[in-house]
This record gives sequence, structure tokens and C-alpha cells, in this order.
Amino acid sequence: MSQKSLHNHYPIVPPTSNFKLMEENGPQIMARGKGVYQWDDKGKQYLEGMAGLWCTSLGYGNGEIAETAAEAMRTMGFAHMFSGKSHEAGIRLAEKLEQMLPMDDSRIFFGVSGSDANDTQVKLMRYYFNAIGRPDKKKIISRHLAYHGVTLASGSLTGIPVNHALFDLPLDGFLHTDSPFYFRDAMDEETEEDFTNRILENLDELIQREGPDTIAAFIAEPIMGAGGVILPPEGYFPKLRALLDKYDIFLIDDEVICGFGRTGNAFGCETFDFRPDTMSMAKALTSAYMPLSAVAIPESMYQAMIDATAEHGVFGHGFTYSGHPVSCAVALKVLEIYERDNVFAYAAKMGSYLQQKLQHFSDHPLVGEVRGTGMIAGLHLAKDKETKSFFDPAGTAGAKVIAACVDNGLILRNLGDVIAICPPLVISEAEIDELVDKLGKSLDGALEDLK
Ligand code: PLP
Repeated sequence: MSQKSLHNHYPIVPPTSNFKLMEENGPQIMARGKGVYQWDDKGKQYLEGMAGLWCTSLGYGNGEIAETAAEAMRTMGFAHMFSGKSHEAGIRLAEKLEQMLPMDDSRIFFGVSGSDANDTQVKLMRYYFNAIGRPDKKKIISRHLAYHGVTLASGSLTGIPVNHALFDLPLDGFLHTDSPFYFRDAMDEETEEDFTNRILENLDELIQREGPDTIAAFIAEPIMGAGGVILPPEGYFPKLRALLDKYDIFLIDDEVICGFGRTGNAFGCETFDFRPDTMSMAKALTSAYMPLSAVAIPESMYQAMIDATAEHGVFGHGFTYSGHPVSCAVALKVLEIYERDNVFAYAAKMGSYLQQKLQHFSDHPLVGEVRGTGMIAGLHLAKDKETKSFFDPAGTAGAKVIAACVDNGLILRNLGDVIAICPPLVISEAEIDELVDKLGKSLDGALEDLK
């Protein structure tokens, strides 16, 4: 098909897109990638500073991973995991995850996306509490600005207005509490500790109001990604954990972005010092070379569901592609590369370098706050950082900076007026310098228009 027709005819309902803008501008078509770079179909080169959608941890065009996928396709291509069937790549991958995860013992359920992983979390909570004879313990608490996916259940966990608007979400049984957004929401003179205590008191009141016996779980991303790269304030997670323990509420750890080295440790819960009850993983599990998600639950939870499947028939939840053997083979290869090449330690080291360089933007007239850790960061744009006045309408400043980034050959993403930065973990020092240089030029360019 000619280039002209690719741009002129776009028979796709574009996911998470502004249809009106798509009608006006059409798609930007990406053609190839290598390392941390991508090229569009006109040959323009971009430094890819968002790792796709927070996922391409090992960068683009990795021949070793391609070979692994090709071999798995040649050997079999597909086998399922329903009704007693399984395959070696799936079992080996579950074993590997069991060793890596910061849980005492675990069982793994495989899916294909972060959304279905969190959907599975909701269904497992329902199934488990019904199985142990506590059918009232079903509600799940999430946070405003959380992003846990877009299916009906995971979209209900999500706390971002556009993911609810016109979809009649959230469904009943999903509650939202404060996000730990210190920069935006702290009151005058409030310390991080006071802020944390205040929002956790609000949570405590919510739990008491609803009744602890009606609440199954609380779900949290270690760093809230799509909501605006929001880092937990000092002491937030240990105090949250203690509060949930008091009321016998599970903590579901959504590691879909933070998992596999993004924060400089294998998992975000290690960086922020908390013990999860269950975990969701996807994205960097395969470095996005194949779709795959994993939910880890404790062995005790699994054991408690065994009798229920004897009594009620099969556990009626699973996808055709649960544990797709090509995806599992790719994940095993990706985890091997993480270990062999010390990718997480490298991400921690280069992450410090990235954060240190980004801190220079703290003084930029467009920037209210620079926040981040490891290989993930956000620049929160503000009209005036002292008075914390933000741009109106929200998102216009962010969109201008991103447009300038595109001109300068840099791919980042604006979440409203937060510029997200999340490069492949394998980015080099020189490439970080290039990213920061292009970002600086883009901020300066946008400043002309905005101040
Ligand atoms: N959870 C988190 C923390 C995410 O960031 C995302 C996607 O960005 C999801 C879940 C949903 O994953 P997916 O888009 O693969 O369904």
C-alpha cells in the first residue's frame, strides 16, 4: 500500500485517542525501531523517551528476543492451559517469577494485558471470599488518578475521569480515596508526614463508614503512572500497609509499570518498602515484545479455592491466550537478559544520572516540580510554582511541550500538564544527555507561547 493511502485512509477506531483530532490530523505512522530510537514512515528519527507505553524496557529491534519468538513459533506456536493442559515455557516462567517475587510463596495466573490482570484480581477476590464463606467482603478501594486499565472492572479501579466519562463507570462496589499527590494537594505548611497522616485518616474513615467486613482489597501502583507520575510521600506505604492489616484488607500491588527494574529495584514495592498480598505484572515482563500479563496470589489463597472448584465445577476464568507459549518463551528470555546484563542495577545507576540531570529543570519558568526515581520521572508544568497555580485549561501547556518535542525528534507523553519521561532501561549516558537536551529545547520553545 502506498504511503499516501496509509495517511488518507484510516479504518481504525483508535484506542485512547481524541477522535476529533484524529479526523483532522490523521495518524503518525511509526515504521521501525532500534535500541532507544524509532523512525516514522517519512524517515524522521526520534529518541523514544517513553518506552512505548512504559513498556519497552530493552528497547527496539532486539534480535535475540526475535530469535526466541521465532523458535517458539516454529516449535509449536500455540498450546493452551485450560482443563489440565500446560506447557514447559509457562511452567518455567511461573517458577522463575515465584523465585523473583517479594512474596513468601505464590501461584501465577497468566493473561495478556495489564487490564485483564487487574480484572482477574477483582474476580479472584470475589471467588476467594465466596469460597471461604465471606460473601459480603467484596468491595475494592482504589485511588483517584489511579490507572489500572480499561475493562469494565479494571476501568472501575482506574480513577481518571476520561476513563469513566460516557462509559457509565465506575461500577458498584468500587470506591476511590485520595491519591498521595503531595505537590498538588498538600495544604499550606503541611509536611509530607502530616499530609500522609491526613489522607490515611480519610481512608480510615471511608473503611469504617463502608464497614471493614465489606472490603476485600485496596489496589495501588507503587508510583502512579498515567495519573501523572505521582510518587508516594515519605512513609506512605508502610502506614497504608499497617492500616489495611488492622482491617484485614488485602493490598493488591499493581506493578504493571514499576515491575522489572523501572524504579531501580526489581519491583516498586521494594523501592517503597511494602509487602504486597497479590501482584499484577505485564509490560516489561516481555519488554512488550509479546502481550503477556501475570497475577501472583499467595499459595494460601489458592489452597482455599481448591475445594470450591470441586464443589461448584471448574474455576470458570481463563483466556484462550492465558500463558501463550510464545509470550512465555519471550518472557523467559527477557528475564534471562535482565539477570545476565544486570539491567536493574544498570537502571538504578543510569536512573540516578537521569534524575540528577532532570533536576536542572526545577528552575525552568514552566516547571512546577520535577519528580521521579530510577528510570521514571515527571515534569509538572505550572504557571507559578510558588502559588501552585496551574495552566487553564489543563493539558494545553503539556500538549505544547509535546508538540515541540516531536519537532525536536523526541517522544515523550503529556498526562495533562505533566510531561512523563520513561525511557527504555538500557538507555546510555549519552542518550540521556540527548533526551535532556531535546527536552530543554522543547520547554524553551513552548515557553514563548505560554508565558
Ligand atoms: N496498570 C497500570 C499501572 C498501567 O499503567 C496500565 C497501562 O498503562 C495497566 C494497568 C493496563 O495495562 P494494559 O494497557 O496492558 O491493559
